[in-house]
Amino acid sequence: MITEDLTDEQRAFVESIRDFAKRECGTREQRDALTENGNEPHNQELYERIADLGWLGVAIPEAYGGTGGGAVDMCLLCEEFARGMIPMGFFSVSMITAGAFGRFGTEEQKQEIMGGVARGRVEAIAMSEPEAGSDVGNLSCKAERSNGGFVINGQKTWITAAHAADHILLVCRTDRTGNKHEGMSMISVPTGSEGLEVRGIDTMGGREVNDVFFTDCYVPQERVLGQVDQAWMQLMAGLNNERLIIAAQALGMAQRAFDDVLAYVKERKQFGRPIGSFQVLRHRLADLATEIECARELVYGVAQKVDVDPGRLLPREASMAKLKATEIAKQATLEGMQMMGGYGYACEYDMERQVRIAVVTTIYGGTSEVQREIISKTLGL
Ligand SMILES: Cc1cc2nc3c(=O)[nH]c(=O)nc-3n(C[C@H](O)[C@H](O)[C@H](O)COP(=O)(O)OP(=O)(O)OC[C@H]3O[C@@H](n4cnc5c(N)ncnc54)[C@H](O)[C@@H]3O)c2cc1C
Repeated sequence: MITEDLTDEQRAFVESIRDFAKRECGTREQRDALTENGNEPHNQELYERIADLGWLGVAIPEAYGGTGGGAVDMCLLCEEFARGMIPMGFFSVSMITAGAFGRFGTEEQKQEIMGGVARGRVEAIAMSEPEAGSDVGNLSCKAERSNGGFVINGQKTWITAAHAADHILLVCRTDRTGNKHEGMSMISVPTGSEGLEVRGIDTMGGREVNDVFFTDCYVPQERVLGQVDQAWMQLMAGLNNERLIIAAQALGMAQRAFDDVLAYVKERKQFGRPIGSFQVLRHRLADLATEIECARELVYGVAQKVDVDPGRLLPREASMAKLKATEIAKQATLEGMQMMGGYGYACEYDMERQVRIAVVTTIYGGTSEVQREIISKTLGL
């Protein structure tokens, strides 16, 4: 999607985010201060200020405190916060979680979760387990009926923002009699609940993901989202949303790496001339610009389709957008590092940080291999 396709309002929205990024996170000193030298992907104080501007509710209906925009607006925000290196790393998972409540929540649940996200609260979603990564259907964390609610036992892993969230939207097993995709339920567990323990996992991305342990953790029936035993269908209904959010964010990462390396090759001189004047680098940048534009067309193409018909499932197109945008984010940052030589590897510059956050985009939210499996199935393979 080219800028001319945006409405005046959307263009103004993008400009406002860019101004904010420049003002608040424009220098390396500002970014270091906001992220504890790159170790914290999310700054809650800044995040709440962004909430006050009304941006976090861009794709949340007005009835729940948002501004009622659609998928294109949400992608614009995700792309620009990544491009601007604004440390609001827990927005994506909060919005993915809010989406599930938008589709299946009761009025009260929507007010609580969607309203909370629009106000700057963080939400987490827990599907993955040690033995259930790409194969989510293999999950075994269980919730058993007891005293008008459920008692949960088991472990989740890799849970983004569980340490900062108000609730964890747990996907767990409530019935074992059917096939592995049957008998799963979604339960929103308040993070302060007794029997819930969150332990951080060290990664190259900083303080981001967690193991979560449930030991006889009781939640009342009203914390169930949607229908008991129907979580698989509910998860499938959210895939457009999840993949678009991750893809748009990856697109912003790719664009930022490209912007930074382009500026660098224009300045850096070797052999008496800017290194960007060497044809081999010029052509690589031309290729990168083309690939990033392809990813942009895919991401916004899917977002526009979702806005036309929010109920339509687009497994093939959404997987293509996620695959393309995340692979180009990884490629752009690694190429950026290569084109910056030793300075790309030095912590003094941003590129090494950009590499660290981009490489994992092809793993979370369904790996690239899983996206290719989904796409190849639509080809009858
Ligand atoms: C930073 C980060 C944040 C995350 N956030 C969350 C979160 O908030 N909530 C949550 O629930 N989960 C989260 N995850 C988990 C993430 O979704 C899983 O890591 C991912 O789905 C892959 O699962 P796995 O790590 O167990 O790898 P595995 O499934 O063990 O895969 C290992 C390798 O095998 C390949 N593979 C597996 N199956 C196939 C197949 N059928 N065909 C071809 N190749 C295959 C994979 O592509 C991969 O390359 C997060 C992970 C990370 C790293």
